[in-house]
Amino acid sequence: MKVTLPDSSIMAKMHRVFFRFPVFVLIPLWLVASACGQSSTAEDDTELASLSIDGERLIQHVEILSSDEYRGRKAGTEGGQMAMAYVEAAYDELGIFPVCGDTFRQPFSFEGRNGTVDAVNLIAHIPGTAGEGAIVLTAHYDHLGVFNDDIYNGADDNASGVAGLLEVARAVQSAPLTHDLILAALDAEETGLLGARHLVGSDCFDDLDVRLNVNLDMISRNKAGELYASGTYHYPFLKPVLENVETRENLTLLFGHDEPGSTLMDWSNSSDHAPFHAAGIPFVYFGVEDHEGYHTPEDVFEDITPAFFQSAADFVHKALRSLDEAIPGFPPASSD
Ligand SMILES: [Zn+2]
Repeated sequence: MKVTLPDSSIMAKMHRVFFRFPVFVLIPLWLVASACGQSSTAEDDTELASLSIDGERLIQHVEILSSDEYRGRKAGTEGGQMAMAYVEAAYDELGIFPVCGDTFRQPFSFEGRNGTVDAVNLIAHIPGTAGEGAIVLTAHYDHLGVFNDDIYNGADDNASGVAGLLEVARAVQSAPLTHDLILAALDAEETGLLGARHLVGSDCFDDLDVRLNVNLDMISRNKAGELYASGTYHYPFLKPVLENVETRENLTLLFGHDEPGSTLMDWSNSSDHAPFHAAGIPFVYFGVEDHEGYHTPEDVFEDITPAFFQSAADFVHKALRSLDEAIPGFPPASSD
């Protein structure tokens, strides 16, 4: 695997910029940074051509997004805006384009305890080779913020999913799917899946011809090496596709958490895949079992399990490619 040194990446440079300048001077700097990113060297192009997940960058995204400076990334806060700017800059660096309007930003607002909260989804796309239908890859970038001076860093929940989304996007950018890949870094999941609800209810969404949602929420922390693919109870035709995807030896793929009445908690409506499911769109949710850091200030970068995380992201990437090939064989959507 090609190793990218943290200091050589544009993300690390932008990270350093964060700590030297207040947010309002950062936007022009990002534009400069992204312009630099587009004039890449031959070496960079070779790197982009790699089909495997960049495990170093994957880890680095989580380290940055879950650092104390991001203050738990709560929707509508300065930390949330920093996370938004980070993802936006990463999209720019990848050289991918908006699909809902002229910018990546899909703003929405909701009523919080202290008044109206402004939130932003970030939507981009990588055109498919067949020009028909889309897969939406989702991961929420918000988390819980700060309570009683405790920062809820949200390393696993869900800096890990955002990192997975960005690095899967990099791999797909170098070798597109047949279907369009829509990248949706969503806001305000922790407030009730509000970003996902807004996306699925938006006019833009109606034009995308969405065939499948792949949702990432907590994919970096599991000592047993177990990753769940949840949703196949509702969409059983997805299961054989996923069962045939190769796993690395430190990863075990499990199914479940999607069946009413089972001993496992039903996750069918617990993350951003729920509005897709409600709209009759098949989904696969990738995530780990809840751990002791879940929704506590202990969900920190130091406690993720990096080798498992890299294998999980690698699996998501391979699964996405297999699902892309399998979509023409999916049964027609039910109308109820
Ligand atoms: Zn989450």
